[in-house]
Amino acid sequence: MELNIKDTFNKELPADPNKNNTRRKVFDACYSFVTPRVPSNPKLIHVADEVAEMLDLERDTHSEEFLNVFSGKTVYPKTKPFAMCYGGHQFGHWAGQLGDGRAINLAEVKSNGQYWALQLKGAGETPYSRTADGLAVLRSSIREHLCSEAMHYLGVPTTRSLSLMLTGDEVLRDMMYDGNQEYEKGAVVCRVSPSFVRFGNFQILAARKDHKNLKNLADYTIRNFYKDIQTEGKEKYIEFFQNVVNNSLEMVIHWQRVGFVHGVMNTDNMSILGLTIDYGPYGWLEGYDPNWTPNTTDSRNHRYAYGNQPGITLWNLVQLANALFPLIEETKPLEDILESYQQNFDQKYVEMMSQKLGLTQINADVEKLIEDLEENLQLTETDMTIFFRELPRVQKKNTVQEAFQKVHKAFYKPIELAGAPAAAWGKWFSAYLSLLQLEEDKDETRKFKMYDVNPKFVLRNYMAQLAIDAANKRDYSVIEELYEVLKHPYNEQPEYEKWYAKRPEWARHKVGCSMLSCSS
Ligand code: AMP
Ligand code: MG
Repeated sequence: MELNIKDTFNKELPADPNKNNTRRKVFDACYSFVTPRVPSNPKLIHVADEVAEMLDLERDTHSEEFLNVFSGKTVYPKTKPFAMCYGGHQFGHWAGQLGDGRAINLAEVKSNGQYWALQLKGAGETPYSRTADGLAVLRSSIREHLCSEAMHYLGVPTTRSLSLMLTGDEVLRDMMYDGNQEYEKGAVVCRVSPSFVRFGNFQILAARKDHKNLKNLADYTIRNFYKDIQTEGKEKYIEFFQNVVNNSLEMVIHWQRVGFVHGVMNTDNMSILGLTIDYGPYGWLEGYDPNWTPNTTDSRNHRYAYGNQPGITLWNLVQLANALFPLIEETKPLEDILESYQQNFDQKYVEMMSQKLGLTQINADVEKLIEDLEENLQLTETDMTIFFRELPRVQKKNTVQEAFQKVHKAFYKPIELAGAPAAAWGKWFSAYLSLLQLEEDKDETRKFKMYDVNPKFVLRNYMAQLAIDAANKRDYSVIEELYEVLKHPYNEQPEYEKWYAKRPEWARHKVGCSMLSCSS
């Protein structure tokens, strides 16, 4: 196995001089060197073949060396693994130093002209582990591995996942934080991304008034990942911030489009590249509900609920602006950028929603239609994915009743053709059909354009849970099958029709299907 090592982070930024793997506060440095924990009996469960190809590793995935390097058993020659130092706001409160508590960066590589950082998640403790063990359990590793790849194929900016392995070790977890500890299977995922730098990497340096390293880190990030920025001085950091704002906005628009709820949008979980990162208690909207969050820790406040994600992205960007302020020393340019976020978001959101509806013109009528739709989807429990996937079948010549019938599959309880909800839908479809008459495209053309933005297959919470339940019995076939289905989320794939269905009733209140804890 040959990796073309091209390390940058641990070459261009200052390291913690302390080489001991003891938990501590780390100052004047961006990371600490640390060696992954040796797993007792690593076993490969799944490789994302396209990621392996991207890294030129497709011929090596069954080798002993692949198993050893990507389980943390051996360190690849001439590499110096490390854990990053970062801070963050958790649930709105500054939490101080956090850092890679259970992520260890192995190396950066160049392959096929692209640069990739490789990072193990669950490979043991680091100086940033605080009170936890640095390990990950199988259930959360399956969820991270499958969802990273599913998001990529949905066209959502995300970190990737190369491999999923069992460590052979047991990990003690109190899954629902109710005092019931249990041993679970330990696992390791190898995440792949151009960079794993987060908002929190900047925040910790700013909080400590380490402006020298704050500048070092900003220069490093711009030099390596925002290469188009050509300005110098303050302008350079302003342009950098504008780029991060644009990328973060792009990311959250995609989340809203596909019904993804991250669950823990703390600033340490915000990638500086605008990638979806840290798949924990995330979930997918089934019944459309802006107030829904899968995260039990957030069940009271709903801070990170679906409908709040765009606003929280802005809140997090404000924290990043504060962290970058010492490099700019002017509030006006930062405020201007932050102010334009809301306007840009509103515009992009309407564009995205009108695409989902198959409407090419944007005007006040379309905006009203979108608002009314959001209300109607909440009248009775309505599956978001199925609604938008069935809607393309509506034809210009349909009557209101015919059009309404086409989306019936999306309702969790059959909706009567009379009564208030039906009346509201009748009104909506009548407005929708009139707008469709103004569209130039034929029904068939519009249908396929709509299919391209309205996925048929997403990783519903219960689907991931079925993969987990089977894997706990050493049956990895569901992981394999879901991975294949989710590679082509916009295709019809009739052979996988069973995964195009509303959440089954048994999953409504089952742990892992409707609610998830941060315990992972
Ligand atoms: P999260 O909410 O998963 O993003 O984690 C917040 C912080 O806790 C990060 O600094 C993680 O690295 C750390 N963390 C989470 N789980 C563990 C664990 N099992 N062991 C050590 N650190 C952890
Ligand atoms: Mg995290």
